[in-house]
Amino acid sequence: MKRKFTHLLVAGATFHACVAGAQVLPADQAGNSWFTQGQAAVQGKGAATAGAAKNVILFVGDGMGVSTLTAARIRAGQLQGQSGEEGLLSFEQYPHTALVKTYNVDAQTPDSAGTMTAMMSGLKTDVGVIGVDEDIERGDCATVAGNEVATYLELAEIAGMSTGVISTARITHATPAATYAKSADRNWEDVSDMPQAAVDAGCEDIASQLVNLEANLEARYPGVDVDGIDVVMGGGRRHFLPKDPAFNSHDAVSATEGDRSDGRDLTAEWRELYPEGDYIVDSAGFAALDTDATGKVLGLFNESHMQYEADRGNDVAGEPSLTEMTTAAIEVLDNNDEGFFLMVESGRIDHAHHAGNAYGALADTIELARAVEAARAATSPEDTLILVTADHSHVFTIGGYPKRGNPILGKVVNVGASEPALAADGLPYTTLAYANGLGFRDLGDETDSDAGYAGEPVSGRVDLSAVDTESPGYHQETIVPLASETHAGEDITLHASGPAAEFVGGTVEQNMVFHIMNKARRLIAE
Ligand SMILES: [Zn+2]
Repeated sequence: MKRKFTHLLVAGATFHACVAGAQVLPADQAGNSWFTQGQAAVQGKGAATAGAAKNVILFVGDGMGVSTLTAARIRAGQLQGQSGEEGLLSFEQYPHTALVKTYNVDAQTPDSAGTMTAMMSGLKTDVGVIGVDEDIERGDCATVAGNEVATYLELAEIAGMSTGVISTARITHATPAATYAKSADRNWEDVSDMPQAAVDAGCEDIASQLVNLEANLEARYPGVDVDGIDVVMGGGRRHFLPKDPAFNSHDAVSATEGDRSDGRDLTAEWRELYPEGDYIVDSAGFAALDTDATGKVLGLFNESHMQYEADRGNDVAGEPSLTEMTTAAIEVLDNNDEGFFLMVESGRIDHAHHAGNAYGALADTIELARAVEAARAATSPEDTLILVTADHSHVFTIGGYPKRGNPILGKVVNVGASEPALAADGLPYTTLAYANGLGFRDLGDETDSDAGYAGEPVSGRVDLSAVDTESPGYHQETIVPLASETHAGEDITLHASGPAAEFVGGTVEQNMVFHIMNKARRLIAE
C-alpha cells in the first residue's frame, strides 16, 4: 500500500497531534518506568533545534567500545603515514558526546538484543530478547503477547516516513532485528531455529517478521496504513530460503543455502508484496540499482553475515561496503518528502573482537567512520540528526608504555627505545590484548577473523619474538581461556550531529537514544 496515511487517518492538521498522542504506544510501554524516566530526562527541555529534524540516522558499531575507538583512530592515522594518536574518527569530531550505561534489566554486561531494544523502543529490557519489555520470559512464546513495544522505525513508518535497515551482520541478527521484530529469543532468526512449541503457539520467526512488517504493523495498529521497510541491506539469506538446494542463490557457498523448514521462500514473498522493488544478492545487482526510481530494496548479500571489511575482496560474487550501502540507502530514502529513518549497523566489529582479532575489528571500525562521513556529506546538519553509538564494549585493552607513533598492532617499544620491551618473563608483548577469549593465533595473511575459531583457546604468554603481530591473521594474547571473547560492561559513547544533538551529554541510560531521536523528530508526544 502506498503511504498516504496522513490523509487517510485524520484530516490534515490534526494528524501530527493524533500520531503524537501516546495512543500510538502500547500502554505497557508508555507507562514503563524506564520509558517514563527517559522521557522525563528530556521533557520540557528546550533547544532551538528540537523538532527540527526531517531525517534521523542511527549508526551502531556493534561492540565498539572506547578502547576500540581509540585504537581505530590511531590505526586510521597510521595507515595514512601519521603518528596516529592526534587524529579523530569522523564522528569523534561531532560537537556533542555522552557516555552511555549499557546494562540490561537482568544483566550487568549486556548483549545486543537488550541494548538495541533499549535504543529503538526507549526502555531497558532483558538480555537476549527483541522488541519486548522485561515482563518477557526469554524463550517462552506465550509471554510475547502483550509485552511487545513499538520501535522508532515502526513509529516512523506510521508517520509516513521512509525507513531503512542496514547491517553487515545477518539482517535477522539481534541489532537489526530490534528495529522491526518482537521475539522471545534473539536466536529465532528463522522457523528452524525455534522450538516446535513456539511455532505451534503462533510465534513468528524474525525473518518472517521482516517481510511481514507492513501487515503486522497494520494489524497491531488498526486504521494505520504503512508500506513496509523501504531499504533492507545485509546478510542472512539462509533465513529467508527453504532448506532445498533448488532455492540456492547463484553465489551460494553451502550445498544447501537455505535453512527454512517450512518451505517458505521469503524472497519470493517479498517480490510478490513489492513487485516494484529490487531484490539483489551481489555487487552487480547493487551497482545496477536506480536509486532515484526504486521504491523498495531488499539486498541479501551473503548466506550468513556479510564479509569482514578486511576480507571483503574475497567474496564470491562481491559485496558493497558499508559506506556504499549507506550512500545508496540515503539516495533511495530521501525520495520521500516526509523524511526518513535509517539504522546502519557495523555488525562485524563485534564478531572480530569475539574472535580475538584486533586487525579485523579496527578495519570494520574505520569503515564505519567512513560510512558516517558519507552520510553527513549526503545530508544536511540543518535537517538530519546523525547519532553514532555502540551497543556494548569488549574486553579489549591498550596497555604498556609504547612510544608515540608505535604501530598500534605492534609490540610495545618504550619511549626512547628501538627494540620491543621485554616483560618479566623475558618475552616481548603487544599493546593490544584481550582479557579473555581464544587467545594467541598466528594466521599470517588470513583476513577472515573467524578462522581463529579453529583449535582450542590458548591462554597466557607466547614467544612473539618472530611473530608479525601487525599481520591480518594475528590474534592477540589473553588471560582467561574462553571459546569466544566476551562483551565488556563499561560505558560506551554516543556522538551526535544535527537537530537535537544538544540533548546528547553527560552519562545517560541507553534507552535515552530513543528519547533523543524523538526530540529531534517527534513521533510521540513528550
Ligand atoms: Zn557480541
